[in-house]
Amino acid sequence: MVSLYLHVPFCHKKCHYCSFSSCVAGNEVFPTYVAALKQELAGLAATCADRQLKSLFIGGGTPTLFPCAVLAELVDFCQALFPPLPGVEISVEANPGTVNAAYLSGLRGAGVNRLSLGVQSFNDQELQVLGRIHDGTLARDAVQAAKHAGFTNINLDLMYGLPGQTAETWQASLQQAISLGPQHLSLYQLTIEEGTPFHQSVATGKIVLPDEEEILLLDEITAKLCGDAGFMQYEISNYAGYGYECAHNINYWQNGEYLACGASAVSCIAGVREKRIGDPLEYMRRIKEGRSVVMESECLSAEASFRESVILGLRMTKGVQLQRLAERYHIDLAKYYGRTLEKLLNLQLVELTNSHLKLTAEGRIFANRVMAELV
Ligand code: SF4
Repeated sequence: MVSLYLHVPFCHKKCHYCSFSSCVAGNEVFPTYVAALKQELAGLAATCADRQLKSLFIGGGTPTLFPCAVLAELVDFCQALFPPLPGVEISVEANPGTVNAAYLSGLRGAGVNRLSLGVQSFNDQELQVLGRIHDGTLARDAVQAAKHAGFTNINLDLMYGLPGQTAETWQASLQQAISLGPQHLSLYQLTIEEGTPFHQSVATGKIVLPDEEEILLLDEITAKLCGDAGFMQYEISNYAGYGYECAHNINYWQNGEYLACGASAVSCIAGVREKRIGDPLEYMRRIKEGRSVVMESECLSAEASFRESVILGLRMTKGVQLQRLAERYHIDLAKYYGRTLEKLLNLQLVELTNSHLKLTAEGRIFANRVMAELV
């Protein structure tokens, strides 16, 4: 079974907080990039024994900068190389500022069955501070258009902990999101990454972020609103209606294998993690010249992979399945972590049941600190 990720590294403009691998490029490079992606895909498929497609995720960047017909063709191309399993999940990330009703109908018609809209906020002032290309009205319109196009699995990305955000504005954005009837919500706390305009603005005091106490209040609002609306928190930042958890991402959190194509994309197959070159122009050049696009290759030891499985698995509310871990690595979790685990158990940051190791509610708040102990 194959989980496949395609990276589209282009955006209309860079958002002020963004450290993702994306750049602003003219439409004229898109055909060459798509041709390179297809070439890499065909090469990958030729080396793949089991090609049945379980999930396809086209992310970015902004995949919806491509004309709809181009994305549709890419989806077709993938399915021709990797025959889809029944119930295959095909996700596309979309920026509300780049789609309309016809575009979304085209995507749905092409077999895309999960749409992930990067809304971030419904508050125009916050969207402006973030440097997004859309406002709240466009975001609302995009969700409605997606529903009319027949999407029944829609994710909305929202961010909290924004400069100038208050409990009231976060509550209003989240309420607005929920009232639009999505099946899935990804709610990320803003992190300030080096090299972004936000990093500079925080350093110079031009923008001020909510403090820890204010963040805790936003977390409480999230828990209350999502819980009341029937969204289950199945991962630290992800909430879903029953049966709408993202299969593609669950595979990452279970430390499963995944294929990937495109500039900066990372794959992990048979314990070997490969990161592709980030510069799209260099990526296209190398593909054209028949050279490898892999920039870093890392062969994970069983122990390193075991620790990753623990850290990633703890992100999920269910936690890490102990039997699965033991069968995969033949390592005893309690013995391996010894005193470290005892300390976390005593602090009630993690909980060990017969079947799982998981974060407690308190542990979820301090997840980064818990994971730093177990990494
Ligand atoms: S649209 Fe997404 S990937 Fe592009 S710059 Fe903004 S945050 Fe980054």
